[in-house]
Amino acid sequence: MIAIAVDGPASSGKGTVARRVAQLLDYQYVDTGAMYRTVGLLCLRQGVDVRDAAASADVARHIDFAFAFREGALVVYADGEDVSTIIRGEAVGAAASAVAVHPPVRSALLGLQRALGAAGRVVMDGRDIGTVVLPRAQLKIYLDASLDERARRRHAELPGRSYADVRAELAARDAQDMGRASAPLCAAADAVHLDSTRLSIDAVVAEVVRLARERGA
Ligand code: C5P
Repeated sequence: MIAIAVDGPASSGKGTVARRVAQLLDYQYVDTGAMYRTVGLLCLRQGVDVRDAAASADVARHIDFAFAFREGALVVYADGEDVSTIIRGEAVGAAASAVAVHPPVRSALLGLQRALGAAGRVVMDGRDIGTVVLPRAQLKIYLDASLDERARRRHAELPGRSYADVRAELAARDAQDMGRASAPLCAAADAVHLDSTRLSIDAVVAEVVRLARERGA
């Protein structure tokens, strides 16, 4: 009955790893990026400026979130609408990263995330899970991969876009996520660092499950 925090930059493989580890351990998978993405989506739809901290926090506070788990994956409902697919687009990702710099947006989501993690038996992925959301998680993973490798993976999912554009967007998102003052992306002092540049996703999953069992999962 442990909590597992998985942090890392965009396209490091943390979502896939967290989901598979959760399935293997029969834990719940919680994707906190999906919550920031939902705030970004609703700001875009409502014409709210994502640079405006107060206005985007107002959007975040008024979302009626509901979560369900379908085949181990988090399904996100915002005001009754299943937004799980629509939040995956690049524009929504950029809007998510923009609203995520604002402390009042982060505090609007923090309570929900902690509540989802409170019971244990959870694998939660994001940027600040080991440092802020679940600082007492028994296992913290920081999953990284080189920018080139992450851009290659993202580009394979978005064949219509140029590799150079995809790489530049990832670099910009990393800089924004690592450089912000509030809960920046960084490894917790007690995180285990894994790098998926050369390790396959299967190997990363196996290592996380091994560590989790060692720590009581
Ligand atoms: O992980 P994903 O790419 O879906 O996250 C979208 C954006 O949400 C990230 O670029 C980041 O700015 C933000 N985020 C965050 N803290 C988290 C999870 C996501 O700031 N715990």
